[in-house]
Order: sequence, then structure tokens, then C-alpha cells
Amino acid sequence: MIDKRDYTDAVQPKVKGRFAPSPTGRMHLGNVFSALLSWLSAKSQGGKWLLRIEDIDPQRSHREYAELIMDDLHWLGLDWDEGPYWQSERGEIYEHYLQQLRERGLTYPCYCTRADIMATQAPHESDGRVVYKGTCRNLPPGLRTSPAAIRMKVPDEGEGLVTFSDGHYGTHTVDLTTQCGDFIVRRKDGAWAYQLAVVVDDALMGINEVVRGRDLLLSSPQQIYLARQLGFTPPRFTHLPLLCNSAGQRLSKRDRSLDMESLRAHYSPQQIIGMLAHAAGLQTDDSPIEAPGLIEGFSWSSVPTADIQR
Ligand code: GLU
Ligand code: ZN
Repeated sequence: MIDKRDYTDAVQPKVKGRFAPSPTGRMHLGNVFSALLSWLSAKSQGGKWLLRIEDIDPQRSHREYAELIMDDLHWLGLDWDEGPYWQSERGEIYEHYLQQLRERGLTYPCYCTRADIMATQAPHESDGRVVYKGTCRNLPPGLRTSPAAIRMKVPDEGEGLVTFSDGHYGTHTVDLTTQCGDFIVRRKDGAWAYQLAVVVDDALMGINEVVRGRDLLLSSPQQIYLARQLGFTPPRFTHLPLLCNSAGQRLSKRDRSLDMESLRAHYSPQQIIGMLAHAAGLQTDDSPIEAPGLIEGFSWSSVPTADIQR
């Protein structure tokens, strides 16, 4: 008998995007830019958008900032369909997946201090990214009792290439062995590392589209590798240009003049969305607009790849 059912829906899973802010300060215009574009990307494909509060760093995360982030998103008209999820409540889940990696010999304790690691750096590598040399890889077990971080092993020389196609910046190939090194999945103080938490959560929450600032572009190969080691299908990654201040520096939570507190004192939600839509090439000027008004005409092709100075 011929099967005449329409499988279109089954083969094209619905898009599920997310916004995953760390509540370590008030959102600034750059964070709102990421939120808006990930929201628009999901909505323009008929997809869903989830909110996850990445409050895994106990020293830097504060509940009040999480409340302010949610209030700012509501005020901007960027409502979420699912969540908020709180990473601080998900430690047992991260432990479960770390255990899987541990049992397969993919992790090891690392006792190095920051000073130890810097001391093993060759001078030409000091361009910001610190590649761990694997000093603690082969320590005999049980020898040390001081607190240790847990590192994930990357493949040996020649086997660490990860190629992925970024939705906005095209194909990237990164050699995990030489450009990344064994990376931390649990900190010495017991806090969960971003890389592990983000991979586990994106997979368990069914996220298939990640839209975020290009400062995280080089985290993607680590996340793809970790996802594959855990048997997950990595999401599609699309990175965004960064917003810079008038001096050309990328915005940080220290730029108070462009944080949501100052912005809300001077502009309406429609004016902020209008400015960001202009920066994204979605309209020709800063005219005020509501976020849903941008869904229909949304296209990645108008979004610049160079960083944007405001
Ligand atoms: N929590 C991270 C941040 O606020 C973002 C994580 C992500 O989008 O993958 O920078
Ligand atoms: Zn070490």
C-alpha cells in the first residue's frame, strides 16, 4: 500500500531558539540586540523562544539582576514562550552528564593555578586565548587531595578539527588541540562551567537554533565537540556583530550610559527597538517600531557582519 501521509512537519522540526543571559548586571544595548535578533529569527520561522537564566557563577550572579532582565524584556515586548529556567537549580543534571564523561575517561582533575598555566604559555600565544597544555592529564590518580578543577580532554594532535557552518559568518574550522586545549567543565570552587551547562541545557531544552554575539563564536566548536561526546545533536549557531560604544570598544556591563536603566529613562521601547532594527539593517532609519512589526520582513541578509558603532 502506498503511504500518502504528508511528512513535511516531521522532517522539518520547529525552530526553538533561546536567550540565555547571565544575571551579573543590568542588560546593555548589546544584550538587547542579541535578544531581539534571536527572538526575531525564531518568530520569523514560526518557532518558539525560551528564556534561561545562566546563574551558575555564585559570586557574580544576583537574583535582582535576573528580575530586572525579565522586567526589561517584558517592557521591550520580547516575551518568551518557555521558561525561565535557572541554571543554579540544575546542578544534579550537570553532575549526571559529567559522570558520563568521567566514566569514559574523558575528564581529569587539574590542580594548576592561573600562574602555573601562564608560566607554560609560549609568548606568541598570549593573544587573549589561553591554551592549556595538558599538564595534569597524566597525574597518577589519588595523589593529590587539594581542590581540583575538572577538565574535558580534547582530541590528540591531528584529530581535533571541528568544522561548522555559522548561520551568519559562514564556515569555520577550529583545531581544538592547538587552538583550545583541554577545557574546564567544573571549576575548582565546585561551580559548573558555562561550556558544560550550556551544552546540556541546549540539548535537554530542545534548542536547535542559537543566536548570540560573535564574542562566543569560538566557544561553538567546544560546544559542538562536547555535545557529540554526550550523544546530542548540536544546535545551529548564528553569531551577531557586536555593538560598540562611540570609542569603538565593545559594550560591556560597565558602560552605564547604554544600560537598560539609562535607556529606559530616555527612550520608549519602540525607540530602542527602532534603533536596533536600524543597526541590524532591518529599516533605513531609527523610526520607532514594535518588535512584532519586524517579524515579517526579517532577513539575515541585511544584518552586517562588521561590528556596529553607535
Ligand atoms: N550566558 C552567556 C552570556 O550572557 C550567553 C550564553 C550563550 O548565549 O550561549 O554571555
Ligand atoms: Zn592542571
